[in-house]
Amino acid sequence: MIGLEINNLGVVLSGREIVRGASFTVKPGEIVGLIGPNGAGKSTVIKAILGLVEKASGDVLLSGVGTDEFEAKERARKISYVPQGAPIHWPLTAERTVALGRTPHLNPWQDMRDEDQTAIRKAMKQTDCWHLKDRLVTNLSGGERARVMLARTMAVGAEYMLADEPTASLDPFHQLQVMDIMKAQAKAGVGVLIVMHDLSLALQTCDKLVLMHDGAVLAKGTAAEVLTDENLKTAFGVAVTRWSENGLEYIAPRAAG
Ligand code: ADP
Ligand code: MG
Repeated sequence: MIGLEINNLGVVLSGREIVRGASFTVKPGEIVGLIGPNGAGKSTVIKAILGLVEKASGDVLLSGVGTDEFEAKERARKISYVPQGAPIHWPLTAERTVALGRTPHLNPWQDMRDEDQTAIRKAMKQTDCWHLKDRLVTNLSGGERARVMLARTMAVGAEYMLADEPTASLDPFHQLQVMDIMKAQAKAGVGVLIVMHDLSLALQTCDKLVLMHDGAVLAKGTAAEVLTDENLKTAFGVAVTRWSENGLEYIAPRAAG
């Protein structure tokens, strides 16, 4: 099957079962939102897909081939990753940070080629950080840094992109911009898996949702199937208010009564 398939994934860390029997699929051109409360296991699922944590059970298939079969570099070319709130310790310029996204395309001692420079510039312009190219990433604001990290991931040009809370430290304008970028990526055929907490944004942007709770997938499917009052109460312990305006649907949490 074409797509990124997560089958019955289980992860055990420090003797604790952190993820249990998680199954879902990300198809090319699709945005899948991975939602759920803090500690539900979302980041762990993403890391297991990337091979950054060991799977205790299950498998991850890329167009039918187990990702364990791929060399690390090949996997890095096929699946790119925006880590959650990754600290940056090295005082690299923003442009050189984004250039790291081209690493999987180059031999260890190879210089950047024109196509690499083009990919870097395009990704930085799309994420509105080209004007920051000569600034040190260690001196950028959280939101500026988040956009540089997103550009680094986009510069990979992978078939699948896994983004772990890429909107977390962004102002509303840049949150919407990141979601527009995700839509453009999907439109260009990239399969996008995105972890997010804003339910309205998830509802408006994602083609499918996967709701995790306590290490397991509580619900998956369309927003209508997943964002039910009952599922939101179980997963987040909240009630919600829903409305629509100008053709967009909104969902706002409130304390469960
Ligand atoms: P989420 O991204 O949904 O907030 P995580 O996947 O980061 O959740 O974490 C899920 C659970 O696994 C949390 O309870 C967290 O404390 C625990 N956890 C994460 N990493 C480790 C680890 N290396 N060892 C033990 N427990 C961990
Ligand atoms: Mg997380």
